[in-house]
Amino acid sequence: MRISAADAAGTGGAPTSLGSNLENVRQHNLSTVLSLVHANGAMSRAQLTRATGLNRSTVADLSAELVGLGLAVESEPVGSQIGRPSPVVEPSRGSVVISVNPDLDAVEIGVIGLGGDVQRRVTYRTTRIPSALEVVNVVSAVVAGMRDDLESAGRIVGVGLAVPGIVRTSDGLVVDAPHLGWVGEPLSTLIGDALGLPVFAANDAQVGASAQWVFGAGRNSAHMAYLYGGASGIGGGLVAEGRLITGTSGFAGQIGHMLVDSAGSRCDCGAIGCLEAQVTRRDLLEAAGVVAGDPVGLEAALRTRLAAGDTRLTALIDRQIRLLGVALKNIVNLLNPGVIVLGGFLGVLLDVAATALPDRVAALAIRGPREDVMIRRADLGADLLHVGAAELVFRELLRDPAGYVAALRPGGRAVG
Ligand SMILES: [Zn+2]
Repeated sequence: MRISAADAAGTGGAPTSLGSNLENVRQHNLSTVLSLVHANGAMSRAQLTRATGLNRSTVADLSAELVGLGLAVESEPVGSQIGRPSPVVEPSRGSVVISVNPDLDAVEIGVIGLGGDVQRRVTYRTTRIPSALEVVNVVSAVVAGMRDDLESAGRIVGVGLAVPGIVRTSDGLVVDAPHLGWVGEPLSTLIGDALGLPVFAANDAQVGASAQWVFGAGRNSAHMAYLYGGASGIGGGLVAEGRLITGTSGFAGQIGHMLVDSAGSRCDCGAIGCLEAQVTRRDLLEAAGVVAGDPVGLEAALRTRLAAGDTRLTALIDRQIRLLGVALKNIVNLLNPGVIVLGGFLGVLLDVAATALPDRVAALAIRGPREDVMIRRADLGADLLHVGAAELVFRELLRDPAGYVAALRPGGRAVG
């Protein structure tokens, strides 16, 4: 749990009038309790009392308010208990986010509840790379088909977009998505206008980082780096001091363009020796003799060839580990992370090379930070981008649960 009792009690707030200060404390406490059950799942009121340092009656009031807002449900504990049983508080399944991930040949859409609860996933195949307008139409049609159902059980609280490109945080503008051929597409605004819902968007690697941090292999680490290797290169996201680093406009985390070999080949960005130009999935697939690139198939093929003593493959893996190690060394020295999470083919590389990558990082990074870091393979599988995209919306909702719900359009009524 990353919320301390001092935070929960609202100490350190700016001095204001008594009324508004009390309101701030209440908003803060409501946010803390909902954040705890979002991150940890069902918790008893006794556990929430211990975790927040608030008193029992305050926690009971806050829980009742969250139930009234349709964001949590309370139930009696099961099984026999000694003493007075403490009711269990968990996220409501009714308040959901629509997650959207446009890809080269499909638009992936999901329905995600608080607590990373993936309730539905729909893959809408396209015959060609979709335009931004086509994505809006697909999302509108899919959501129209589900809306009555979702709103009879609760409400849609927003839309989260994971975009394979550079996204401006302030308005969700897709500045550049080279693989989709999009430049300056106002996708968030278009979807928001079509659905009448709040929309939040981010680069897909940052979205993945967010998911790993809250629900995956980087869980509970306030300092984490995530690197994802796919067909189109290497992306990443950084968490420091318990928050995702976005930079001035949301463009931070371009780990794929970190210099790792000044004598290397030219990257698509124009520079020489970028990580993603030197460590590629294409080289690994070719050496493994496979066409399709899913991590499971790739890993199996690599292991078979390594067991057969394929020296060309061994040399390639050695080279990729050596260069990836340079990038990770820089991240370790710069950020002092507790965890580095590797997804896509980078996770495969980590696992097939035994301890070669951690050994390389330990040899390159400076004493101190190198002792703190663990390198782990990503998890969450196909849920990753859905859970992460939903997190873009839930992050806003968790900050001020009552205020967020009140600001939803008139149709998004409170439940309970
Ligand atoms: Zn580059």
